[in-house]
Amino acid sequence: MKNIERTINETYTPSELVINWHITEACNYNCTYCFAKWGKPNELHRSLEAIEKLLDNLADYFIKGNSSLKQKLGYENVRLNIAGGEPMMLGSTFSIVLMLAKQKGFKTSIITNGHYLLNSKFDLPNNVLDMVGISFDSQRYDVRCEIGRVDRKGNSLSSDDLKFALKKLSSTQKGIKTKINTVVNKLNWQENFSSLISEIKPYKWKILHVMPYGEDELLISKEQFNYFVNMHSNAGLPIFAESNSAMTESYLMIDPKGRFYQNSSSGPGYKYSECINDIGAEVALKQINFNHAVFIARYFPIESIAILENKVVAS
Ligand code: SF4
Repeated sequence: MKNIERTINETYTPSELVINWHITEACNYNCTYCFAKWGKPNELHRSLEAIEKLLDNLADYFIKGNSSLKQKLGYENVRLNIAGGEPMMLGSTFSIVLMLAKQKGFKTSIITNGHYLLNSKFDLPNNVLDMVGISFDSQRYDVRCEIGRVDRKGNSLSSDDLKFALKKLSSTQKGIKTKINTVVNKLNWQENFSSLISEIKPYKWKILHVMPYGEDELLISKEQFNYFVNMHSNAGLPIFAESNSAMTESYLMIDPKGRFYQNSSSGPGYKYSECINDIGAEVALKQINFNHAVFIARYFPIESIAILENKVVAS
């Protein structure tokens, strides 16, 4: 791993640091493989004061400060990525978070299942979002139902819904970048998305290997994952693939309680810091293992990544 780290540091500097805030565990879908399950914690977003304090703590350390992390990574922007659960379930609070984040100097993005983008009652303020990531796992309704990507009434985002939602968003969020996230699993690893992704023309199509958190029956081998990647690699699509190891210790993540947390490389489960609002971002970050080499590797496109025996290396 040391050699990999050196190679990456010598050849690449990300211009953007991404902080993922999993703001809520609530979701209108019920995906089998979902790992956004924290057991009903007291979520920080219930207090606007706590939200603002958290954003100030993060801005002070990551944007205004000159931390060793900033020096090591050399990033120019900090993007606050709001994920869940389904963050748009928070309604007006969700809009306030985005507006405050913009005021404090963050770039903003969300990861959403897209359901509430179709809802005409939900008015996102203009120009608060720089990027949207929409999770989309199958063009087939029956497969989406089997995965659990469906609400209680049987509503599920179709390919046409996805196209409509993106069109609507781009009319209120100037210059918004689109990312499609697809979790490759036992039910979709042979499905061809080429024509849909070609039509949508996202900035990124992120392909993720299903993680071993949910039902084992959806897990696939690394050969099946690579089959999916290879099936799409000659179509000129903006593919970014992540193997399991690239997803371990490679994200800066904040949980609904406002703590940094990290996938553990030594076994299942997470490591948590204390609440960032209690001890500040710098001390909280030291309490988890943040692997900046793998973080940087996440920004390489598939062409320059070799997925070898579950290790991501720069080629
Ligand atoms: S849509 Fe996302 S947050 Fe909701 S259940 Fe599925 S994976 Fe989990």
